[in-house]
Amino acid sequence: MIFIGLGSSIGNAEEIFASVEKLLIEQGIQVVKKSSILKNPPIGGVAKNEFSNAVWQVEPVEARLIAPLQLLKILQKIETDHGRTREKKWDDRTLDLDILIFHDEIINIPELQIPHPEISNRIFVLKPLSELVDETLEIPTLGALGSLIRKLTS
Ligand code: AMP
Repeated sequence: MIFIGLGSSIGNAEEIFASVEKLLIEQGIQVVKKSSILKNPPIGGVAKNEFSNAVWQVEPVEARLIAPLQLLKILQKIETDHGRTREKKWDDRTLDLDILIFHDEIINIPELQIPHPEISNRIFVLKPLSELVDETLEIPTLGALGSLIRKLTS
């Protein structure tokens, strides 16, 4: 299973995320499951706006295969199409797309870390993910989803 994280703090998140789905389809990627959109306070001390976050399960159409770096390129192109420039880390942004989980792959190269290293620190990722899968889901290198959530909320 492949999961991506979506975040936005500028503009109408519902509209932006709907446009992301269209652009993904144009690239041969379909959205299989969507979490609700959660509203969260900004983190990191730079952004001022509230963030909208969601997690989607995606897969290539028609049993095609996709490589993680290919998916990263597609997501970066969609971010750019939405006016995303490489602004300050943590700053407000129209659209942030991350690969969270890519099957059972563990990737650790400068341009791509999978599972996304921040998953276990971000309740705004873990909570929406738990809407899509059972809490027993084992995230490679990080552990079971349920125990990650309990660590952050206890
Ligand atoms: P951001 O500012 O969050 O959009 O970070 C973008 C940078 O993170 C890009 O240069 C990506 O190459 C890198 N990156 C590393 N791991 C991931 C991942 N799992 N998903 C998306 N971007 C990643």
